Amino acid sequence: MANLGITTIGEAKEIRGMNLIAAHSHIRGLGIDTETLETRPASQGLVGQQKARKAAAVILQMVKEGKIAGRAVLLAGPPSTGKTAIAMAMAQSLGSDVPFTMLAASEIFSLEMSKTEALTQAFRRSIGVRIKEETEVIEGEVVEIQIDRSVTGGNKQGKLTLKTQDMETMYDLGTKMIESLSKEKVMAGDIISIDKSSGKITKLGRSFTKSRDYDAMGPDTKFIQCPEGEIQTRKEVVHTVSLHEIDVINSRTQGFLALFSGDTGEIRSEVRDQINTKVGEWKEEGKAEIVPGVLFIDEVHMLDIECFSYINRALESELAPIVIMASNRGNTTIRGTAYKSPHGLPLDFLDRVLIMPTYPYGPDEIREILSIRAQEEEVTLSPDALALLTKIAQETSLRYGSHLITAASLVASKRSQNKSASEVVQVADVQRSYQLFLDQNRSVKFLQEYEKRFIG
Ligand code: ATP
Repeated sequence: MANLGITTIGEAKEIRGMNLIAAHSHIRGLGIDTETLETRPASQGLVGQQKARKAAAVILQMVKEGKIAGRAVLLAGPPSTGKTAIAMAMAQSLGSDVPFTMLAASEIFSLEMSKTEALTQAFRRSIGVRIKEETEVIEGEVVEIQIDRSVTGGNKQGKLTLKTQDMETMYDLGTKMIESLSKEKVMAGDIISIDKSSGKITKLGRSFTKSRDYDAMGPDTKFIQCPEGEIQTRKEVVHTVSLHEIDVINSRTQGFLALFSGDTGEIRSEVRDQINTKVGEWKEEGKAEIVPGVLFIDEVHMLDIECFSYINRALESELAPIVIMASNRGNTTIRGTAYKSPHGLPLDFLDRVLIMPTYPYGPDEIREILSIRAQEEEVTLSPDALALLTKIAQETSLRYGSHLITAASLVASKRSQNKSASEVVQVADVQRSYQLFLDQNRSVKFLQEYEKRFIG
């Protein structure tokens, strides 16, 4: 097997985080008291929708305890009622090595691969494998560092003397270790650890015996005693990768660079079978643990009957994540069939799904959400402008109201071109942007009035 430590789940999450849909950038978590699982009315960017938030927290708890793999949950509610927002909040509350994959159902049909391959990849991206590795680590107090500065060209040489309570050992320093020493600003009296395989040096604190240096070290310095006995110890390091990452690294046609370009293509099922067997072995040997993550499928009614039967089957497999879906449809036709069913989900599938409803917001909640959005976009709204935006959002949608914040702020800064861009948004700015951009109802009306003039 190739080296698996190339991209950890944490890093992949960060990359995804960069294109986290800006509309939800104000959301930092579910706003839940983690001890009692009680929701706070407004917390961590989320307002109201307390039942769904609590249900989401219960599910998270089950994910954390590893109890809910292979289950499916459906967030069902009208548009703009926070379904995606709650899913994003769940993602933020998961541990950094628990995978979270987000997929809009329609993407399945646009990728250059079969629907089932796209779903398989999404499933496998959502399952983490926590791999334990042993590495040799040396810990001790630095007695002396000698670096031969005459050797240049990236080949500096040096020696490091470390001691524990009852022994003293000298180490030859490679270039990597010298770089690491200077990065950590290591000096005599420091207690350090050296990872022998990577050459990474970590400063753990200062030696007790050198505590007279306290003033020079600053208040954050930890004073610790030198470890006893043996200098060399074995330590366990853990890193987590997704099953999909292991697939890509081991698929001969793709190679690991595909992880960065995203151009993974189809992966042969034999590769996956081999990997499942290998991961199974690692698990038995205690070298790896499976971390079921979350796969979020938005607009799930866009999937067709074949996709639903795939998901139904995939959820039964031993290696399954938790699947969270969202739909704003009522009774609707299941794609690929002539039948209607609630949320466009086949009845036998719906039967195994836990449903979390979301409800339309009242004016106070809408005002508060708009106000949070304005803060997030660094826009100052006059109280009257906020009141008008709230009314507009109530009559159209929260999403439209939220978009008008950005538009009205542009109008306001245009109006005061010579002043700073942080002009307070007034009622007139909101009115002007309301005229400039249609909401859905007015757009439908507009189409009806001018239907004949459109092409098609
Ligand atoms: P759709 O069915 O149309 O996809 P949705 O239910 O997924 O809608 P969101 O996209 O989550 O709705 O919500 C619309 C906007 O309102 C987003 O910017 C979202 O972050 C924000 N929002 C929705 N609900 C809340 C909430 N309870 N607290 C804070 N912000 C919210």
